[in-house]
Amino acid sequence: MNSMEKADIIVIGAGIAGLTAGLYASRAGMNVIILDKFGAGGQLLQIAEIENYPGIFPSISGFELSQTLYNQAKEAGAKFVQSAVISVDKKDSTFYVKTQENSYESLTLIIATGAEHRKINLPGEEKFTGKGVSYCAVCDGNFFKGKTVAVVGGGDSACTEALYLADIAEHVHLIHRRDTFRATKTLADKTASNNKITLHLQTVVEEIEGTSFVESLKLKNTATGTSTRLNVSGVFICAGMIPQADLLSMIPKDKNGYIIASEKMSTTTPGLFVAGDVRTKPLRQLITAANDGAIAAESAAEFIRNNK
Ligand code: NAP
Repeated sequence: MNSMEKADIIVIGAGIAGLTAGLYASRAGMNVIILDKFGAGGQLLQIAEIENYPGIFPSISGFELSQTLYNQAKEAGAKFVQSAVISVDKKDSTFYVKTQENSYESLTLIIATGAEHRKINLPGEEKFTGKGVSYCAVCDGNFFKGKTVAVVGGGDSACTEALYLADIAEHVHLIHRRDTFRATKTLADKTASNNKITLHLQTVVEEIEGTSFVESLKLKNTATGTSTRLNVSGVFICAGMIPQADLLSMIPKDKNGYIIASEKMSTTTPGLFVAGDVRTKPLRQLITAANDGAIAAESAAEFIRNNK
């Protein structure tokens, strides 16, 4: 049944940025609703081990952190609703948020919708998605126990996924189009020195081949022009992220689609704040997403106090 609920602050997205925003906003005495189509966790659910979150040592899983943070935000008073947002509008000083089931109104909105895995449109990529092509080692790695797999990309995700898979698979081939990594040096060095990982630098995948499932990759070394075939049972594509900002036609974004926000997480639309991977920023990490969530919540609470 369609009904209407009011809140001081609506947070869209329940990854670490959204949950932190919910926690801080609730603790600031605000009435908060957090909406997410999948449930709490976001990209946290894809992280096997969090090794670099300050103060959390030894490492815990992303799932553990998401559950703790979800409980913490709920305990503070945030209301959580699992539902996909289909539209966002603003009239006068009120935001109108619609999901399939309900309508919501609020004085402020915090967008914490994050980013999704980029597809690179290789021949065979779509055909074999779920049949050997994956975008998440934590989700699908176990299917490749004792098998040979490939990872495509040279960023932190590619290295993290390759290292994760090296513990499960027989062997991992990391294929990167350049001769230097985009990943941080520590991760790149750890990946390069793992004896279960073979690096294929200056190499591109030309085609993912197979019958029902992935069987091989057609590779081309761009430095030598040589083509080879690599037998693998799976390929994990780690080619970066696409910001999930399509709902917001009204605010400026950069050339890659990330929402532009101030140091206080405000946008050009009064009352509209943004947090986490969906905004322009120099470092996309759990710690910076949590930071954004806290600032966005404080800014939204301040906006409400000043405009009530
Ligand atoms: P990223 O840093 O954007 O790296 C994407 C990689 O994919 C790059 O190496 C890029 O190559 C390659 N690539 C892009 N399009 C391609 C194509 N069409 N064909 C072949 N290769 C392609 O993305 P990410 O690794 O997912 O990281 C996203 C953010 O999350 C980063 O800020 C990262 O620091 C953070 N992150 C952190 C951790 C951690 O700290 N443990 C783990 C995961 C992610 P080029 O280098 O040639 O452009």
